[in-house]
Amino acid sequence: MANITFYGGVGSVTGSKYLLEHNGARVLVDCGLFQGDKELRERNWQDPPFDAAGIDAVIITHAHIDHTGWLPRLVKLGYKGRVFTSRATADLLKVLLPDSGRLQEEEADYRNRHQLTSHTPALPLYDEQDARNALELLSPVPNDGVMRDVCSGFQAGFSVAGHIMGASQVLVNMDGLRFLFSGDLGHYDQPIVKDPAPPPACDYLMCESTYGDRLHGDIDSETGFARIINEAYRRNGPILIPAFAVGRTQEVLYMIRELEEAGRIPVMPVVVDSPMAAQATQIYNRWNEEHDHEYASILAKKVHPLRTASMTIAASRDESKRVNDMKGARIIISASGMLTGGRVLHHAMRILPNEDATVIFVGYQAHGTTGRRIQNGEREVKIMKNWVPVRCHVEKVEGFSAHADWKAVLRWLSGLEQAPRAVFTTHGEPEAAEAMAGHIRDRFGWNVVVPQYEQTVEL
Ligand SMILES: [Zn+2]
Repeated sequence: MANITFYGGVGSVTGSKYLLEHNGARVLVDCGLFQGDKELRERNWQDPPFDAAGIDAVIITHAHIDHTGWLPRLVKLGYKGRVFTSRATADLLKVLLPDSGRLQEEEADYRNRHQLTSHTPALPLYDEQDARNALELLSPVPNDGVMRDVCSGFQAGFSVAGHIMGASQVLVNMDGLRFLFSGDLGHYDQPIVKDPAPPPACDYLMCESTYGDRLHGDIDSETGFARIINEAYRRNGPILIPAFAVGRTQEVLYMIRELEEAGRIPVMPVVVDSPMAAQATQIYNRWNEEHDHEYASILAKKVHPLRTASMTIAASRDESKRVNDMKGARIIISASGMLTGGRVLHHAMRILPNEDATVIFVGYQAHGTTGRRIQNGEREVKIMKNWVPVRCHVEKVEGFSAHADWKAVLRWLSGLEQAPRAVFTTHGEPEAAEAMAGHIRDRFGWNVVVPQYEQTVEL
């Protein structure tokens, strides 16, 4: 007897948590933080309907916080077992989870200082030490598809999902019953990481549906990016690219290096102002099982694929301050990507009022963030209690999304030789999950279920 319960990643793209039970053993696949609306975020505070200490193993598909950010909380609640994940994901978690702990502490501190809490004092969901305790449990495995024991009656095999560095699809075998988790799937031909590996044969399959109702279209982000950089260069002013330190920063660096080498943009100083980005950039070169052919061939030439011709990484605060003394055209990449905090705010205060300067958004700007306000054309934004005029050029480059659209998901699914008994579409807004289910039924005629939050299905 086996069953699965959906404790997140349904009706929403966040909070992924799926509990498999078989012969008295329990395995949790992903342990994500809910993000977005207050109602969703409050779920992070509810005790789980299962006993954290009673779980036998945790499997993590990839490093994004909506798949991993609740792990320190699970550990705080008593989980002591192993956490299986790919080697690159384990490395990225060593950067991301302690940072997530610090952010939780800062948020609690902010609530206390501004009396925004009904519980005094407000406590963090977990702190940096909880995150470090979670890291102790990591059991990294190669992303090679080989089945390995995870606990009594359960084996798991990880293979490349092509979404971000280290992202895996995971096949779980419960005494012969095979359940495949797609994890988040990448689109084909995306730079740096390999394409998604073909899906292994399975009895049940869970498939992500982030873009279940959308297609990426033919956005040539390189051409758009090159045009913006060239125009900004002619104005001889600074270029600020707000970007998340892990993932997007590396994708941007890779593109700048390619454009420089092709002579499509001039070589100019590039400053990566983020200690986390510095660590993540090293991790990117470490695991060649993740690299696509192009990335591997650049590495083989002893060239760093994420190093532009004139690049500095400002790890310390002093180095970060020195960036302010630079003159002329230069590119500054700094977090956070939506200008909600971090070092990017110091740069924004200087750059936004400068008519010769350019801000380039390379990621989604959520409603209510400073990034969204600037993107919407507001002429003045509040940063660290100061009103800052926006006189610089504001640009946006699309096409950096790391998710497969629905056609790419169908392409991946077409690698299955036999129909699974059931497919579950998860990790999508309700319309997207329904649309993805429809596409799979139309194309393959398979039995597809859109699961509900906390629903249990017998397998
Ligand atoms: Zn993801």
